[in-house]
Amino acid sequence: MQPILKRVRHGVANVVKGMVINHHHRSGALLFSDTTLRDGEQMPGATLEPDDKLQIARALEALGVHSLDAGFPASSQADIEAIRRMAGVIKKPVLTALCRTMRGDIDAAEEALSDVAFGKRGVSLFCGTSPLHREHKLNKSRAEVLEIITDTVAYAAERFVIVAFSPEDASRTEIDYLCETYRNAIDAGATTIGFPDTVGLLTPEKARDFIRRIQDGVPNIEKALLAVHFHNDLGLAVANTLACVEEGVNVVQCTINGIGERAGNAALEEVAMAVALNPDQYDRTVSIDTTRLAPLCKMVAELTGVPLPTNKPIGGDNIFASEAGIHQDGLLKNPDTYLPYRPEQVGADGIKLIIGRHSGRRAVAHRLGELGIEATEAEVLDLLEAIKRLPKGVTVDDARLRELSGLLGTTPTLD
Ligand code: MN
Repeated sequence: MQPILKRVRHGVANVVKGMVINHHHRSGALLFSDTTLRDGEQMPGATLEPDDKLQIARALEALGVHSLDAGFPASSQADIEAIRRMAGVIKKPVLTALCRTMRGDIDAAEEALSDVAFGKRGVSLFCGTSPLHREHKLNKSRAEVLEIITDTVAYAAERFVIVAFSPEDASRTEIDYLCETYRNAIDAGATTIGFPDTVGLLTPEKARDFIRRIQDGVPNIEKALLAVHFHNDLGLAVANTLACVEEGVNVVQCTINGIGERAGNAALEEVAMAVALNPDQYDRTVSIDTTRLAPLCKMVAELTGVPLPTNKPIGGDNIFASEAGIHQDGLLKNPDTYLPYRPEQVGADGIKLIIGRHSGRRAVAHRLGELGIEATEAEVLDLLEAIKRLPKGVTVDDARLRELSGLLGTTPTLD
């Protein structure tokens, strides 16, 4: 492209960029950035083939995420291939590629994303800023790291409209220096500044405090969006993310099922449901279609081979299953008695009443009715006694229920 044309295009892009950022600030929207395909896939054993990534990316697009951290082009050919596959297919979310603060990484990202529309592609630059990273990983001074950040963000901003910068290990970086890196990155053209709790050691109170200090200490912050990225090493990634939502961050970066490095990331489905169910606390507009969450959780578990614990919020098998008599009785009378939300709100299959030692008379009678087995009240009570005498670990599936009811002299009918 001619230099003059390039400059004009860049000038227009910058004006549009400013308008988009202002719009997001004014609208109070909470944007979801998904990193299942990048940080999630970094989890040992969670390797995804380009086809799998495309399938998940399509589902994330339908879910309504604002951007997809699509991969790390400089790290592997497979990431480049996966990004290229997404380029022609994924239209709505912004596709971003992860880059170190190195010109070569930005060049690789530009090549991998070359088929993506100008306003729908971006780079996400990261550079260690904590004393640990500066001294032990980079062997560079504060001033040297700052110069690298400024130089590479400016280089990226000449090639991309959307440029995110994240100081890696931000939660262990001196606050004054952290703010200095953000200030410089925004001046150099960063459109999003990220706050990653890389090793997952913050608590909600400390996370909130960091966000307030950044909002106070970065005078040009209105020119960029503020994003957060939490790890779950203390089981607090979702809580920390939500604390920052209350403080007004614009973007939350999460993964489906919370997969990711070590203990994982903030689970997107949990953050989205917490926000959706508490509008009095989180007064933000969200574009996530929660009815797609449970099927997506199951898809990601299947494709990554990282199974969902049965009690995993939103997607686990037990979320709408109950064995306890009092709960089963309540659920049969009105599902809301023992549920925070209905299965259809997250696209789950439905309530499952598990028959077992803790079950009550009503649930047993209900299941027998569903199986077309007639039983008197006395027979149901006898059956319940028989169930309670079963050895530990014996599950009462429909076959066993038929068998037990047959022993009582009831005639099972075929359905
Ligand atoms: Mn991470």
